[in-house]
Amino acid sequence: METSVDFTEAPTTSGASSVIAPVITHVAEVTLTHEASAPSSPGILQERSGSISCSKKKGRSIECEKESVSGAVSQRACVYCGARVVLNPITDAYHIVHGPIGCASYTWDIRGSLTSDSEIYRNSFSTDLRETDIVFGGAEKLTKAIDELVEKAAPKLIFVYATCIVGVIGDDVEAVCRMAEHKHGGGLRVIPVKAPGFSGTKTQGYKLACDAIMELLLPHREQPQQFGINILGDYNLAGEMWIIKGYLEDLGIPVLSTITGDASHDKLIRAPGALLNIVQCAGSSSYLANRMEEEFGIPHIKVSFFGVEDTSASILRVAEALGDPDIFARARAFVVRRSAEARPFIEQYRPKLAGKRAAIFVGGGFKAISLIRQFNELGIKTVVVGTQTGKQDEYELIGELVDADTVILDDANPAELEQFMLEKQADILVGGVKERPLAYKLGVAFCDHNHERKHPLAGFEGIESFIREINLSINSPVWQFVRGDRG
Ligand code: SF4
Repeated sequence: METSVDFTEAPTTSGASSVIAPVITHVAEVTLTHEASAPSSPGILQERSGSISCSKKKGRSIECEKESVSGAVSQRACVYCGARVVLNPITDAYHIVHGPIGCASYTWDIRGSLTSDSEIYRNSFSTDLRETDIVFGGAEKLTKAIDELVEKAAPKLIFVYATCIVGVIGDDVEAVCRMAEHKHGGGLRVIPVKAPGFSGTKTQGYKLACDAIMELLLPHREQPQQFGINILGDYNLAGEMWIIKGYLEDLGIPVLSTITGDASHDKLIRAPGALLNIVQCAGSSSYLANRMEEEFGIPHIKVSFFGVEDTSASILRVAEALGDPDIFARARAFVVRRSAEARPFIEQYRPKLAGKRAAIFVGGGFKAISLIRQFNELGIKTVVVGTQTGKQDEYELIGELVDADTVILDDANPAELEQFMLEKQADILVGGVKERPLAYKLGVAFCDHNHERKHPLAGFEGIESFIREINLSINSPVWQFVRGDRG
């Protein structure tokens, strides 16, 4: 069935000269129903129509990689948060948030990357800027904060994040960091991350974090090349990076550096010596891979370790890229064996899940693609799929993988997600912490596939956790009580 969204009836803003944008905070007129909703779309802003594709007949081109529409209440985080997503997992780094204390509430506690060594990254440090600092400048306070950290903890690596208000008052954060490195010496790196929340999208934050990593790596470019790879864009959530690293090392592929899951200063600076970079989260780390290719001559390939199909293909691609026939033979034997072992588990759960309908809203396009493939293997139809930072080529592939009537949307907001979940009668939403309440309040099952997840969902081990979690949530008896009218 064609979806019934009619953008011509959607509310419009009050004109180009207005500075007030309408804010959609809820889907007031949508109720749980067996039928597709009425033609009007009360949750959709006119300016968002280009970022939503509802039918192959209307073409699958989609507006993406652009700033969020004002008033649309984007699910994206700010530039600063984007930068911390990438840098926070460096386990022995000190993160000073130069700004009001509120920005520092983004901590390890809401990002579950695991460590095998230092636990410094579980702390947050803030200059706690107050009104007088805003009036007279906060550079002196930042200098004192760095001095105090050096005196008390003798760090090797400090990141200093300039947040919104620092972008406004214009503290020279770069100069403070440069002077601190000079004053304290001993190889201390103090790297500024100028990430005011208003300066772009979350993607800009990823880019700034990648630039900060390059600033750390560039002085170490002159080192002998080693047979080994770096893993980029894996944040070791619930120990996933350890699973993938274990596969590769068992096949005879050394992992020199992991960026940034379970990373440390000393392990990171080995990265320029690698033969190959593999990129798991392309949204956050493709830019870093490109820069490392330009600066160090390290080629890269994109990989995904979610689901049997993508995990197997990625392991083979890594082995092939290294050009060693023995490694490739071992890799092929490994994926054949592990895929065969995974099949009975998938078949066991397939009857419980086939025919269900899934909605997906995740950070990047590559993960969405892997999830669609995983759902296809289980006989689950993806009825809604969206990402925060997907790219045009990723949306094109998504369009090829899903049915003609699947809704595809970039940078969705809560109202849109709620509306399409209801209209398409999704049984489960796969997303992150911000999407969880949207699902639960509609009586829709939920699977956390973001940084807060507690079970590894990557690799062959992750396939079993993922299927178990989907089954437990989707087939929970609780839904019959909270959405009785959906059956
Ligand atoms: S938007 Fe600005 S003030 Fe808010 S958390 Fe981000 S950097 Fe801090």
